[in-house]
Amino acid sequence: MLLCCKRHSCSRSSATKTTLALIIALIVAAPAISADGTAESRDTYQQMAQEILEQLVEINTTDSVGNTTEAAEAMAARLVAAAFPKDDVRVLWPEASKGNLVARYRGTGDRPPLLLLAHLDVVEAEREDWSFDPFVFFEEDGYFYGRGSYDDKARAAIWVANFIRMRDEGYTPDRDLILALTAGEESGFDNGVEWLLETHRPAIDAAYCLNEGGDGAIRNGRYLSNEVQHGEKIYMDLELTVTNPGGHSSLPEEENAIYRLAAGLGRLAEFKFPVQINEITRTYFERSAEIEGGPIGAAMKGVTTRPPDPEAIAQLSKIPFYNALMRTTCVATMLDAGHAENALPQTATTTVNCRMLPEDSPDAVRTTLAEVLADEVISMTTTWEAQSAPASALDPEVMRSVESITEAMWPGILVIPTMSTGASDGLYLRNAGIPTYGVSGIFIDKDDDRSHGRDERIGVKQFFDGQEFLYRLVKALSSSREQGEEDR
Ligand SMILES: [Zn+2]
Repeated sequence: MLLCCKRHSCSRSSATKTTLALIIALIVAAPAISADGTAESRDTYQQMAQEILEQLVEINTTDSVGNTTEAAEAMAARLVAAAFPKDDVRVLWPEASKGNLVARYRGTGDRPPLLLLAHLDVVEAEREDWSFDPFVFFEEDGYFYGRGSYDDKARAAIWVANFIRMRDEGYTPDRDLILALTAGEESGFDNGVEWLLETHRPAIDAAYCLNEGGDGAIRNGRYLSNEVQHGEKIYMDLELTVTNPGGHSSLPEEENAIYRLAAGLGRLAEFKFPVQINEITRTYFERSAEIEGGPIGAAMKGVTTRPPDPEAIAQLSKIPFYNALMRTTCVATMLDAGHAENALPQTATTTVNCRMLPEDSPDAVRTTLAEVLADEVISMTTTWEAQSAPASALDPEVMRSVESITEAMWPGILVIPTMSTGASDGLYLRNAGIPTYGVSGIFIDKDDDRSHGRDERIGVKQFFDGQEFLYRLVKALSSSREQGEEDR
């Protein structure tokens, strides 16, 4: 609401306009959806989605000690109990603790299948880092808490509950719906999607996929936009090392591996890769400028001009998310040096994690980094090679459906195509020729995104709204009649 106020200057002469803007903002801030989030108002399938989320959160699926097979089997048992044929519900794994669930909801086969994806594994979470046990689910003050409650077990729970709801309702889609709940998205060397594509391609082959990566955006309690992610930045890890003969720490020398590496990192800290606005980010900033308004909105417009306005770049660069959308980033993430308190260091090593724009080449990024470090003593090796993936062309059917359902559920909220600054399983699917769209209808405060962090949570109302949004979206995309065709 404050933003509206600023945009209209709050002058007396524009009082009517301001009042109108406030009314619109109020409507927008409190979308009129069925569930109000209270426990009493939850229907059967909302309760079911909540129970599934609880069950999934409480099965530890971290790479270190977790087990996605247990989670996949629990979901398989629910689907079989809901009358899905056993042969259509399979748990597949490359090794015992890395199971993936693949389930098929059979349709008429008029069109090629639609793949619905979520990952079962979660980022590590230590009890001592959190305010509570990360693997005990609970609800408090309008949020569900627990590791994976947002990333990505919410989506997994929603897919399973919606599969059961559609089956109970006797719904027959015009295409098979394939549910894949996968392992190894967050870490480890057993990526479920990559393995399924290699070994069970027909089981998950589809016209396109709906995945994580796009959500609704809330800021200061105000609903801003619903995102459709169709491209991602590219991940690459580098290791920088300085070695030195070392010696007794009572006799320091000019050369010191730690100082030498630290000096290079100081230069890296000062460096910013050049801004490149691609077609996805141009559309993103153009549409977001309308929603945002004020100085940030003006800066968003400023970066879409050709060439972009340097002042606008400087302003948006202060905001980490916008900075990451505009340029490749490389940042030091880990540091390891020395071998004893009383010895000169023989080795100093740091990990630098790069997130490259799809247009950038790994070689060009490495060459630039070597120039920035400006020290031949600092060696550079690539410990995770970049794998690029083309952005998925926006599918008119998907966009039309997302836009009309968004308008019905949250009137006035714009749909915005986005590029993720992180990477997901979309990488493997896009490279395998399966266009992938990140869309959920789950709204989240962009300034309080706790995925991968501590005390992870999801808004209760936002979870149930996402469930309803994805229910409507999957039906729209698997029902020719709902696409506006004539009754046959
Ligand atoms: Zn995720």
